[in-house]
Amino acid sequence: MADSTNYNKVSVLVVGAGPAGLSAAITLKKQSPGTDVCVIDKAAEPGNHNLSGAVLEPGPIHELLDMAAGDWREDEEAQKLFSRKVDKDDVLFLAGKKASFSMMPAIKAAKACKIGFGQMVHEDDYIVSISSLTGYLAGVAKNVGVELMTGFAAEDILLDSTGKATGVKLVDQGRGHDGEPLPNFVPGEVVEADAVVLAEGCDGLLTEKFIEKAGLKREATQLYSIGVKENIKVTDEQYAKFTDGRVVHAMGYPIWTPVIGPAMFGGGIMYPMGDNKIAVGMIVGLDWKYYDFNPQDALERFKEHKFVKQFVDGGTVVEGGAKMIPEGGYFAIPREGSTDAIGKANTVILGDSAGFVNMNKIKGLHNAISSGLAAGKAITSKLGALDELAVEYTRLVEEAGVLDEMRTAKNFRQTVAKFGPLQGMPFSVFGGMLPKFDIEPDYEVMTSMEYRLRPDMDFDKDTFTAMADTEHREEQPSHLSILDPAKCDECGRKFERPCITFCPAGVYEMIHDVVKPANPSNCLHCKTCQRKCPFDNIRWTVPEGGGGPRYKTM
Ligand SMILES: Cc1cc2nc3c(=O)[nH]c(=O)nc-3n(C[C@H](O)[C@H](O)[C@H](O)COP(=O)(O)OP(=O)(O)OC[C@H]3O[C@@H](n4cnc5c(N)ncnc54)[C@H](O)[C@@H]3O)c2cc1C
Ligand code: SF4
Ligand code: SF4
Repeated sequence: MADSTNYNKVSVLVVGAGPAGLSAAITLKKQSPGTDVCVIDKAAEPGNHNLSGAVLEPGPIHELLDMAAGDWREDEEAQKLFSRKVDKDDVLFLAGKKASFSMMPAIKAAKACKIGFGQMVHEDDYIVSISSLTGYLAGVAKNVGVELMTGFAAEDILLDSTGKATGVKLVDQGRGHDGEPLPNFVPGEVVEADAVVLAEGCDGLLTEKFIEKAGLKREATQLYSIGVKENIKVTDEQYAKFTDGRVVHAMGYPIWTPVIGPAMFGGGIMYPMGDNKIAVGMIVGLDWKYYDFNPQDALERFKEHKFVKQFVDGGTVVEGGAKMIPEGGYFAIPREGSTDAIGKANTVILGDSAGFVNMNKIKGLHNAISSGLAAGKAITSKLGALDELAVEYTRLVEEAGVLDEMRTAKNFRQTVAKFGPLQGMPFSVFGGMLPKFDIEPDYEVMTSMEYRLRPDMDFDKDTFTAMADTEHREEQPSHLSILDPAKCDECGRKFERPCITFCPAGVYEMIHDVVKPANPSNCLHCKTCQRKCPFDNIRWTVPEGGGGPRYKTM
């Protein structure tokens, strides 16, 4: 075992202090207090890089807190965090700018018949801010003795010749624009570890490197969506009318546009966040086909719909942000060929990094926490044989029901992508019975069609970015690279350079007729550009630790 006082070498290193990583660290430290566990996160403070809805299923979080913080129900912070429960569950279909129809009767009937989308029922779930949840779990982790280090970004995972992880490499601090060391340069250390837990969230940098280096495979291509979200402060009357226990999920307008073009997968969300704030968001599958589509435009249109407007009109946006969701489902979970493990040897993949989002209900938080519980238990039981960790972890994830749940939604997103939401959603009812089928990655489906509902005014990305409170040290090398500028010329001719339009932070600009990531310090770390550039021509790497958004209540 590693020396517990030297953090260049630890027993267990967790990359990512989101719900998955913190749940793993808490479980392990609670079950095996003598093991040194270090969690690193690129955010300046716990919760700063976490954005979600969020409706939280209670089972796994109760299991975690009952085990690690027995008296948590008496704790004031926990009482505030878990004070809102869903008592009114609206699923609406928005037809045009004014009409809306409840889909709850159909969903309840589907639930009674155990049909996939019958899972879209949220009564008695908690309504939480993931930034606050993560902040709270960080406190629990520290209380049980976990070493939590924020502002530390990992850029690579190191393997030995057998494919076993030996540690991770942190990002250098203090390089100039040109990459040359400045006087305050500090080289990124290598943190060695006996076991590595990858819990970086969606499209994890180290996770994807590990999948490639260790030869893991996905049976189907990973697919993504982007969620753009604002917290809006409204009047007492508007909030009272919305109520503190209501959640709204809306399909249709403005992204289902069957009459005037191909529909997009996704929809709007509205959740009460307390203190007269309503979270309003728009989630859109990255397989949209319109070259000029910006998800923020769809969010604006959603806010103008008669149903939504009554609650948020005249309100003040107090926070904003964007993040991707992994949507490929069961067949997109990365596995090791010979063992089927979700990881390999002493390395395991958790939460959104593994793709544990159930697309029947667009929820991943409970599975992220469940996977953390499984990882903590697996490490405890395999401390003397960490080469068997990934297999044991996968067994426990299965035992916890995460994979069964993922199986219920297998093929869902692929069916919708292949046939479009209109035909694909009803067809997805039979998705579980269909054989596995793959579809092209999101970036390949761009066309030269126009999004006809684009608002007249461009979305104000500067204000949105300010609401995410995002910041990076300006002088560092850009963490975004365009691989082949010649492809941008072709992209300009075919699609008018969509990265400039869809990046929610306005990072890309034309400078002297060349597209550049001109404002990398505005980046929200959503990674959409890496997955939606139609020429697969953008790479996102992790910037210096501590940079990026500073979400407080997202
Ligand atoms: C708009 C939106 C709405 C959603 N709504 C819901 C909902 O209502 N209910 C639900 O259950 N789920 C919802 N989800 C999904 C849910 O948020 C995720 O499933 C969940 O956050 C996954 O947790 P995680 O710990 O795996 O990842 P994350 O929460 O993404 O945490 C990953 C952490 O890793 C850190 N990190 C990443 N890379 C590095 C690195 N290289 N070095 C150091 N640190 C790193 C990040 O800073 C971050 O803190 C929603 C998601 C979105 C985007
Ligand atoms: S980076 Fe990608 S999306 Fe942007 S102009 Fe170049 S090819 Fe097009
Ligand atoms: S540059 Fe890329 S990762 Fe950053 S905010 Fe824009 S789309 Fe997201």
